[in-house]
Amino acid sequence: MKNVVVIGAGPAGILAAIAAKTINNNVLILEKNEKIGKKLYITGKGRCNITNYSPIEDFFPMINSNSKFMYSALYNYTNMDILNLLESYGLKYKVERGNRVFPYSDKSSDVIKTFNKILLDLNIKVKLNEDIRYIEKQDDVFRIYGKTNKYESDFLVIATGGISYPATGSTGAGHKFAKNFGHSVTKLNPSLVPMEIKSNYLKELQGVSLKNIELAVKVDDNIICKEFGELVFTHFGLSGPIVLKASNSVPENKNNIIISIDLKPKLDLETLDNRIQRDFAKYSNKNIENALDDLLIKKLIPVVLKESKINCFKKVNQITREERLRLINTIKNLKFELVGLRPIKEAIITKGGISVREINPKTMESKKIENLYFAGEVIDIDAMTGGYNLQIAYSTGYAAGKSIKEKSNE
Ligand SMILES: Cc1cc2nc3c(=O)[nH]c(=O)nc-3n(C[C@H](O)[C@H](O)[C@H](O)COP(=O)(O)OP(=O)(O)OC[C@H]3O[C@@H](n4cnc5c(N)ncnc54)[C@H](O)[C@@H]3O)c2cc1C
Repeated sequence: MKNVVVIGAGPAGILAAIAAKTINNNVLILEKNEKIGKKLYITGKGRCNITNYSPIEDFFPMINSNSKFMYSALYNYTNMDILNLLESYGLKYKVERGNRVFPYSDKSSDVIKTFNKILLDLNIKVKLNEDIRYIEKQDDVFRIYGKTNKYESDFLVIATGGISYPATGSTGAGHKFAKNFGHSVTKLNPSLVPMEIKSNYLKELQGVSLKNIELAVKVDDNIICKEFGELVFTHFGLSGPIVLKASNSVPENKNNIIISIDLKPKLDLETLDNRIQRDFAKYSNKNIENALDDLLIKKLIPVVLKESKINCFKKVNQITREERLRLINTIKNLKFELVGLRPIKEAIITKGGISVREINPKTMESKKIENLYFAGEVIDIDAMTGGYNLQIAYSTGYAAGKSIKEKSNE
């Protein structure tokens, strides 16, 4: 009987354990938290964007680092495979905008409950509150040390995650273990992270959510990225889907980066001017601050007027042509200076990790240490939002587990 130990009960470790289990082995997951899937619980704002429903070939452009490495793993364990598994244990799901898949209940806890059911059904043991400190391999056996307990195994999967949101348990232990086994770890950087901006309006704008707007990142006046969709103002700056996406294009060590927001991307300058002139005719006797409600959300109006250098109390019928053109210009190009990206602990995902050059892409086995495997975010792979990162965790976990199962049956 072979012994398999998986460190980490995130989606990668869980899938590795599920795929590894056969009657010829014991599979044990060691997890330092008091429950499984602590990060999974907060995914998709508590709704868990389980995966993406697009065809697998559409996943590769969404993977920012080492997409080719994922080829075999993704085709061998697809989005439909994880959905079929979860569905077979009773989880209903739905597909939303951008092919993002969510549990039908909108509760990530239901995904975790389903994983718990599967682990129980397959007789996979989970030891919670077990923080692994040190690992070594002697005479073909892995010795795995917790604070007080010691474990031995024939196969070991390291699925300890990256270093973002460390309160969920991902504190970089796996990188340390891998280094001790002679693996290289590429530089760890934040990916999909909010932006800090310099602005006098943060207090007024905090909590304001803007939909259907266009955000551009400009370096030395050159646009390096444009994103359309939703953003949110926070106490430090900007967050929300398009900000996280755009954060990946922000170059390191560059000053003079401007974030420009087009509040009306669907209207060109002329159409917007006509629209404003119609509103001005309708509200000609009002103060300008009360004449823009049809066009802009309330909290934005004083900000846009200040940026356009127009007195809020000026009567609409006294607004000059120059002032109107300045207003249009601000609406199409509301500018903020970027101070920087928020720290890695606030990033959705860690860019960088255990180098893929030292891992077999078909099995996730170490090319340096036999029977040692890696899975999930601990590896140097990261993707955009949309369910792709979780799919990477399942697919790499599955690849590792499948290889262990085959070896256990030999
Ligand atoms: C706020 C937020 C929202 C997200 N939303 C989505 C989304 O909707 N869809 C999507 O695709 N991706 C999303 N992601 C990314 C996704 O959560 C991760 O890519 C995924 O969880 C990585 O899985 P993993 O199993 O590799 O690592 P993790 O989920 O981080 O799991 C690693 C586990 O290992 C345990 N561990 C670590 N060290 C030790 C140790 N020494 N001993 C024992 N146990 C240890 C940890 O406690 C943890 O439970 C989101 C991330 C964040 C932060």
